[in-house]
This record gives sequence, structure tokens and C-alpha cells, in this order.
Amino acid sequence: MRKGLFPGSFDPFTLGHADIVKRALRLFDEVVIAVGYNENKTGWLSVEERVETIKRLYKDEPRVTVESYIGLTADFARERSITAIIRGVRTTVDFEYETQMADVNRQLSGIETIMLPASPHLASLSSSICRELAHFGHDISPCLPKGK
Ligand code: ADP
Repeated sequence: MRKGLFPGSFDPFTLGHADIVKRALRLFDEVVIAVGYNENKTGWLSVEERVETIKRLYKDEPRVTVESYIGLTADFARERSITAIIRGVRTTVDFEYETQMADVNRQLSGIETIMLPASPHLASLSSSICRELAHFGHDISPCLPKGK
């Protein structure tokens, strides 16, 4: 039973995130999407709202579960008997950050990180750009996955 953990802020959960989940489901039997509480950031949507929205998106996919967590990703991953952490990489900046995080998480928990390169047509999409567009009154629905 290979269980992947996809941790993030998901504020909001975008088409880029959904693409990573879809591809991760080909590599893992189960994918746990984990919305992390960040004590330094209030966030745009509440963590509860993000969890509910993502749960609704995957209500017909029994291999995807959605949770929130507080604290270190490495600790959460160990508690859940995770096989590997999944992260998406859009740019060299992402790559540098993710490499550091992967190293720390491996040292803390022995769990490896699988980095999936962003699909080229989604590589410019970020939650922060969505928030910025929404702030100025733009419709961000084209950037978000559609529920069934
Ligand atoms: P965090 O605050 O932990 O970076 P995010 O919600 O911004 O959380 O991102 C979660 C993960 O999804 C990160 O690995 C990020 O690089 C990845 N990601 C974000 N947007 C995209 C995208 N458009 N394509 C692929 N991966 C993405």
C-alpha cells in the first residue's frame, strides 16, 4: 500500500494542484492532501473552508483523502505511515526550496520527497496569483478545478 502525502497551503486549491494529485494517483495507491496551518499567515480562505472545498472535489475518488494538520510535515507524515511526500515544482526557485525541504524532511523522518514537474500549461499558475486577481475583482474560476 503506497501512500503519498501532498502537503501545502492550497489557499486556494488550483488546477495546478489538481494536476499534481491526478498524476500522483498513478504512482500511489492513496493520496492524502494535507492542508497545513501556518502560524505566521492568517490565510485568505480559512483552513476549514479549504479542506471542505477539496473534499467536495474528490468526493467520488476514494483513493484521495483530505485533512488539515498543525506542525511539521515530517511528523505528520510519520504518524500517517506515509510512503513519500509529493511536491510540485514549477521553477528553479521552487526546486531550490523543495530540495531544502526534502532534505530536512528526510533527516527528520526518513521519508523521501517525490517532486513532480509542473505541467507546462499550468506552470505559471500559483495560489498567490489567484488571490491577487480575486483581490482586484477578477473571476478566478478558470484557475480552479470544477466540482462535479
Ligand atoms: P506551500 O505553501 O506549501 O508551497 P502551495 O499550496 O503553494 O503550498 O503549494 C503546494 C505544492 O503544490 C507545492 O509543492 C507547490 O510547488 C505545488 N504547486 C503549486 N502550484 C502548482 C502548479 N501550478 N503546478 C504544479 N505544482 C504546483
